[in-house]
Amino acid sequence: MREYHTATIGDKEIGHGLPVLVQTMYDSAIPHEREALDELLRRIGSLNAMGCDILRFSYPSSDDHESFSCLCKHSPIPLVADIHFDYKLALDAIACGAHKIRINPGNIGARWKVDEVVRSALDNNVAIRIGLNSGSLPKGEDPMPILMSNTALEYLSWFESLGFYNTVISLKASDVETTYEANKLFASQSGYPLHLGVTEAGSVVSSVTRSTWALGRLLEKGIGSTLRISITGEIETEVQAGVELLRTLGLRKGGIRIVSCPRCGRHSFDSQGFLHSIEKDLMSVQKDLTVAIMGCQVNGPGEAKHADIAITGIGRDIFLYEKGKLVRKVSLQEAREAVLEAVRNAE
Ligand code: SF4
Repeated sequence: MREYHTATIGDKEIGHGLPVLVQTMYDSAIPHEREALDELLRRIGSLNAMGCDILRFSYPSSDDHESFSCLCKHSPIPLVADIHFDYKLALDAIACGAHKIRINPGNIGARWKVDEVVRSALDNNVAIRIGLNSGSLPKGEDPMPILMSNTALEYLSWFESLGFYNTVISLKASDVETTYEANKLFASQSGYPLHLGVTEAGSVVSSVTRSTWALGRLLEKGIGSTLRISITGEIETEVQAGVELLRTLGLRKGGIRIVSCPRCGRHSFDSQGFLHSIEKDLMSVQKDLTVAIMGCQVNGPGEAKHADIAITGIGRDIFLYEKGKLVRKVSLQEAREAVLEAVRNAE
């Protein structure tokens, strides 16, 4: 029987049979000013409330040492340092208190440099993700999924020879089928946790579609311990998409299920704008509720009956329903707070 390994990333443990965690990557340089760091820590708190479990940062220079140390110390979720080319940066990020580092051993250089990093991670109880992208592999004749999986297995044997097992693997490609096949193959050969993602997947629609098709099939088979939906867009959207995928697959329970009408020629209320204004706040609530946002009197009241909390907009009048019963009419300006209040008070 295959031996499964777990990885410990700060206070989180991942691996076979454990909850699948959502990850995203901060999209800017690490700030150095105190105020900006405080603001970033608040943003990490909001991401956490939305369902983000792990956050990765680029760590391109030891100039970021002080700021990254501060973030690692105060972040409510584990932080990962993304390292390229320079093994000393990996050692520096570990010294900052990074909970995991992500490297591609193939771009770190001589093997002794990789070994230094692995030894430091071992001494400091830091996880390592071996991150392999289809565009940055050693040359080989094998089809890409085989090349990716075999390269990961070879690097794992280096790590194991040093007594290091706190490892996560990622095999990413921009091509959906390559990503799917590489991860499926690796999972058939190894029990190490996989971080899943389709890389460079494009804008929201393109990325969510491609990532859902690749990752959904893997997750259904029990493959994957963390995931990132890479979007050319806001990191909050990446978290939202990751959480939604896990909920849809029944791999994450709780939270608000939003039902909203697509709008049609009958709509007399901007359900799209309203949804946009309230969606992130709703995602931060962990209660198991259905909230419906409906655009007119034709189908709105009917749908509202099936939701825990619902609104139907009729012109500038917004009708609020709780447990299928009309409870009050509010103005457009009051509607957002009325829904959030109803959600907060819901049993
Ligand atoms: S609720 Fe009304 S506006 Fe929304 S799609 Fe249905 S009929 Fe159209």
